[in-house]
Amino acid sequence: MNSYDVVIIGSGVGGGSVALQLAGSKARVLILERGPALPREAQNWDPVAVFCERRYHTQETWYADGRAFQPGMFYFVGGNTKFYGTAMFRFRERDFEALAHPEGVSPAWPISYQDLESWYGKAEQLFGVRGQGGLDPSDPPRTTEYSHPPIPHEPVIDAIAAKLQSQGLKPFPMPSAVDFGPQGTCQRCTNCDAFPCKINAKGDAEMKLIEPARRSSNIELMTNAQVESLETDDTGRTVTAAVVNVNGVRQRITAGTFVLSAGAINSAALLLRSANARNPRGLANSSDVVGRNYMTHNTSALMAVHPFKVNNTQFPKTLAVHDFYFGEGAGDTPLGSLQLLGKIKEPMLRGALGAFPKFVRSALATHSVDWYAQSEDLPHPESRVTIRPDGAINLHWHRTNMQTHYRWVAKCKAILRGTGYPLVLSAPFGTDVVSHQCGTVRFGNDPATSALDSYCKAWDHDNLFVMDSGFFPSSAAVNPALTVAAQGLRVGAYLREKVIQ
Ligand SMILES: Cc1cc2nc3c(=O)[nH]c(=O)nc-3n(C[C@H](O)[C@H](O)[C@H](O)COP(=O)(O)OP(=O)(O)OC[C@H]3O[C@@H](n4cnc5c(N)ncnc54)[C@H](O)[C@@H]3O)c2cc1C
Ligand code: SF4
Repeated sequence: MNSYDVVIIGSGVGGGSVALQLAGSKARVLILERGPALPREAQNWDPVAVFCERRYHTQETWYADGRAFQPGMFYFVGGNTKFYGTAMFRFRERDFEALAHPEGVSPAWPISYQDLESWYGKAEQLFGVRGQGGLDPSDPPRTTEYSHPPIPHEPVIDAIAAKLQSQGLKPFPMPSAVDFGPQGTCQRCTNCDAFPCKINAKGDAEMKLIEPARRSSNIELMTNAQVESLETDDTGRTVTAAVVNVNGVRQRITAGTFVLSAGAINSAALLLRSANARNPRGLANSSDVVGRNYMTHNTSALMAVHPFKVNNTQFPKTLAVHDFYFGEGAGDTPLGSLQLLGKIKEPMLRGALGAFPKFVRSALATHSVDWYAQSEDLPHPESRVTIRPDGAINLHWHRTNMQTHYRWVAKCKAILRGTGYPLVLSAPFGTDVVSHQCGTVRFGNDPATSALDSYCKAWDHDNLFVMDSGFFPSSAAVNPALTVAAQGLRVGAYLREKVIQ
């Protein structure tokens, strides 16, 4: 039977956290996922297969203002978390408030940090996040401690932490969703950030949300099921069916409630593609915000190189620096987050440093400690997902707040040189890297300026929720996945209590 109480489109963090909250309820729930389950195979940990051959990237073509590109998107059960770097940060209290930057204001959210605080705690538990509260100088208050201690630094990182402290900084253990510890299964395989975990020791949405949800008989998962559009009734207010391409065969699946969790860009695209006579600008879009305000953080990779020191660290992502998250003292504007990156290996440099001989790339990768400088991308109405006449996605990323980012990168370089690494190289990430995509279906208090209410229900429709990183009104300067999970759990609880009964 092709009819359900709830249909969830997408099995990433957003869809998975809603599904988990509905597990064991009376509702018959179907999760539609366009991709398959990711195969566990030797190539999972092979940098050539993952980075050079792009074995797991979607083959889809998107456009950036006319230029064709293959986006860094991964369509599998668990979504992008199959490849994520496991950094699981809470947004800070002030990230939920209006925050002035040199190039504009990061807008306030319709909910406060306190509204998400308990859900953050639950999400940390579910994902098995390792960390220690109170050491991050910008950390928000918490009512629950991490359930596992932080992952200890390896010797090279320990030495850097000491050097950072001698500069008067407060480096702290990066919260990470990796099953590491006395009884843990993580093997410190040296590949984690941007790789899938062959032994499922990474806390991703498949392992921590979808699989546990599926243990309840009321949750079904259909893979290779790509939703092409949503249909409404004649009033345009009620979504009646999802038109789904299942292994090449088109089906209509009906439901009482739809939760769209296809990721910020794909959810916006699906709403736009579902335009009909009653909703000529697309579903949930009487405000004309759907697809707009696309953000994905301003980020740069930094390689701190020492000509005589070999970096043999296996799991480097254990340390971050947030002393300047909100700027360099009173009256300053926010700068951002400095975090360790997964270990860069020679094949990963072939794109950026292809003109150099292999031995140069190998020497750099062997001698570098690799970092990630991240600062806030501000929403802009012309930063936008649109649909081309041929049906493909066009992404126009209107860059904002770049002066802040350049200032932050320069500051990070000075900090890293102070740790004893004389050469610090940097390269900004461009449009093709859509890892931290958000903002395209923003929530808010006003139907005129937002698509969703504070529980991510579409203002324009009685039975449509959009629950993925699209709901963010601002991007903050920390990684998004934990915030998607926290709001997903909040929305799932609301659905269970108030909607499906
Ligand atoms: C390499 C990489 C590293 C990252 N590292 C971190 C990190 O360390 N920390 C952090 O917080 N965040 C990180 N992120 C970002 C994080 O993974 C995302 O913020 C998060 O996964 C977003 O979850 P989501 O549910 O919004 O969307 P997604 O993960 O994109 O899930 C959407 C799901 O919907 C499916 N789907 C899409 N369209 C359709 C359709 N039409 N029909 C059916 N199904 C569909 C997709 O296949 C996917 O499974 C990283 C991302 C990448 C790519
Ligand atoms: S470092 Fe650990 S969790 Fe990450 S991919 Fe390797 S084994 Fe898996």
